[in-house]
Amino acid sequence: MRVFKFGGASVRNAEGIINLFDIVSEENDRLVVVISAFGKTTNALERILAGWRQGDPETRSLVREVTEYHISIAEQLFGAATPEMERVKSIFREFGGLLDRKEPGDYDHDYDMIVSNGELWSTMIVEAYLRTRGLRSEWADARKLLITDDRYRDAGILWESSQRAVRERFNFSSADLYVTQGFIGATEAGEATTLGREGSDYSAALFANMLDARDVVVWKDVPGIMNADPDWMPSAVTLPHISYLEAVEMTYSGARVIHPKTIKPLHNKGIPMRVRSFADREAEGTLISEGAPQGEMCPVFVRKSGQMLLSLIPKDLSFVMGDNLAGLFHLLAQTGLKVNLVQTGAVSINVCIDHEEHRVDEIIEELKKEYTVLYNDGVEMLTVRHSTPEAAALVTGSREVLLSQKTRNTVRLVVR
Ligand code: ASP
Ligand code: MG
Repeated sequence: MRVFKFGGASVRNAEGIINLFDIVSEENDRLVVVISAFGKTTNALERILAGWRQGDPETRSLVREVTEYHISIAEQLFGAATPEMERVKSIFREFGGLLDRKEPGDYDHDYDMIVSNGELWSTMIVEAYLRTRGLRSEWADARKLLITDDRYRDAGILWESSQRAVRERFNFSSADLYVTQGFIGATEAGEATTLGREGSDYSAALFANMLDARDVVVWKDVPGIMNADPDWMPSAVTLPHISYLEAVEMTYSGARVIHPKTIKPLHNKGIPMRVRSFADREAEGTLISEGAPQGEMCPVFVRKSGQMLLSLIPKDLSFVMGDNLAGLFHLLAQTGLKVNLVQTGAVSINVCIDHEEHRVDEIIEELKKEYTVLYNDGVEMLTVRHSTPEAAALVTGSREVLLSQKTRNTVRLVVR
């Protein structure tokens, strides 16, 4: 069996869903199809969440917008007066009811409760469509399959119970194809959780691992994995074949084409992944697997914005290498902040972290107890893998470099 994953851009309108049907109906093998929320629905749900928590009356019109968006896609697929449409409408009535009924509580918990709906909506509509077109498909609820801890917004998979549930559900006895949600799971108590923004790729890799899939195909609105963001570097080229290691390094450094957590579950079972163009099905895309050609890589440029550079000096000038570093990393891990770069001196620690407002303020307050804390926000981290001197010079241009780091073939710069 294979796992196909379709991102939000691929299912942002009815044409996309019809194209998805063409792709999956041409496939002879059994499939688990993992789908993201339609288009920019996750962002819309984040705005609904914020409005709802503040009791903002505008929230209703935001809910109406997202409802109308889905209903209009569904009407194009099913026709207005159909049983499928009745079902879609009732789902949105339920969502309105949920917002009226619940009271805001913990931010991260509320986030998952509300934002997880995007994937539930998209998969219900797509699966119903595949069935009306005659495919032997079934809808599967990822909240009953990916069982997680209760670290909302960045939930960790409880491996054994998830694997058991996944293997039981996806047994292909009454279906040739299952449609399920990316990005979401639930705690053992059944509370919805999410796996981190852009987490649908990770879900696809988890299902593939647990089911020993032949491969994973991620269908995207780009031709494959490129050696730079083409909006940033117009000379960017598609990389035909890269290793798992290269893929992890690139995505962790900020290459947004797939979620960095995706690679490990695939690597652990040697399952290849292909990133392919949804629009141009002739194109080969990028293969990520063992045995990628080594040593002839062109420079790879990755940019990660929304960063904060924190510089810490212990107030008592104690050396940082032992307990200070351990304590700092423990604190960062507890807060769930992602560390992208570390550099230390005798009595100083520099870390570049994702600037997530809800979490950063909290941690700075905590750190001020023991450290003199300096920080720059709104900075960017630039990474050049397989770097040459020309390549490194190309990325900085005239920007101010706040920190630089160089290993055998990778250069990292924090710039503003
Ligand atoms: N819909 C989620 C997001 O936009 C997950 C995903 O698309 O991978 O972050
Ligand atoms: Mg996406």
